[in-house]
Amino acid sequence: MTGRLRFAHPEPEPARSRVWPVFIPFAGCPYRCVYCAQDKQTGQGDADLTDVLRNMEQDLDAALADGRGPYELAFYGGTFTALARAWQEKFLNVAGGYRELGLVTRVRCSTRPDCVEAEWLSALRDMGLDMVELGIQSFDDDALRKAGRGYDGDLARSACALVKATGLALGIQLLPGLPGDRPGVFRDDVHQAVLLAPETVRLYPCLVIRGTPLATLWGHGLFMPWTVDRAREELAAALPRLWEAGIRVIRLGLPPEGTLAEHILAGPWHPALGQSARSLALFEIVREKAAELDTPPALLEVPRRYQGELFGHGGDLVEKYAEIHLDKTLVRYVGDAYFTLSGR
Ligand code: SF4
Repeated sequence: MTGRLRFAHPEPEPARSRVWPVFIPFAGCPYRCVYCAQDKQTGQGDADLTDVLRNMEQDLDAALADGRGPYELAFYGGTFTALARAWQEKFLNVAGGYRELGLVTRVRCSTRPDCVEAEWLSALRDMGLDMVELGIQSFDDDALRKAGRGYDGDLARSACALVKATGLALGIQLLPGLPGDRPGVFRDDVHQAVLLAPETVRLYPCLVIRGTPLATLWGHGLFMPWTVDRAREELAAALPRLWEAGIRVIRLGLPPEGTLAEHILAGPWHPALGQSARSLALFEIVREKAAELDTPPALLEVPRRYQGELFGHGGDLVEKYAEIHLDKTLVRYVGDAYFTLSGR
């Protein structure tokens, strides 16, 4: 027991480089997954790769002329490694040209775990690919089968291992709350992700989006998505486990881009879901520390960068802090990088 505790927030430092996304909606996808609505997320229809490449070059040229950058170029929204190989080469060659000019520092793509193959992945690495983000969604065989993903947990794990063995950085995307979800599946998926030690993780709780097969299932009462509260609590529990393993969590919930918001029929969507989950995770960290004190807390010093998230979205954690005898008068925001919790 102690009267004063100093501790750091467990979140790893954010990446310094900015990501320049190049969307290729549904390009290369072997079929449309039941929940997926890349068209609504990106506000773009099926990708015409000629247009995508032309727009990418025009926009990067403009950035170069304006002296903006550097950027990490990211091919998102489809299955990059399943595009016609000539297209993959073309995109990476063009990216390589901007790398030589200093505008692009790194290139990443997103793809499915059943669309990576050792020899071609090495070839892509040699053409300048640095990172692969795998849309794993879950490692649970049953959840994967019911979501119609067409692969099992073993394949998902070996695809992650292959990306790392090829010398590429690994990103893992999980989609909790899929059809076939059961209590504990997401917690186990997070555990598996920690064991695979990716550089980044994205967590997108499953939403019901208009026009998807999942919307039909939901309309017939055959699928029930998570609530916002459940998503917030599950994400908040996952965050410290990922952070403490040195894994950066680069996205919590789908961003309100394109025409997404107007097409969400059900599920845990809230524009502040990510912030709210981060705040709850931080509260649990503070609560654990407060339990280590000899006396109720008298003062909590908080690094200024967490000022906006300490008491939650719209102050929704004020009551929870009151339960551990902390209120706004006992909190001071400081220039320090550490939290300090002092007892009375
Ligand atoms: S989830 Fe991924 S693989 Fe499935 S349709 Fe969407 S972009 Fe394609």
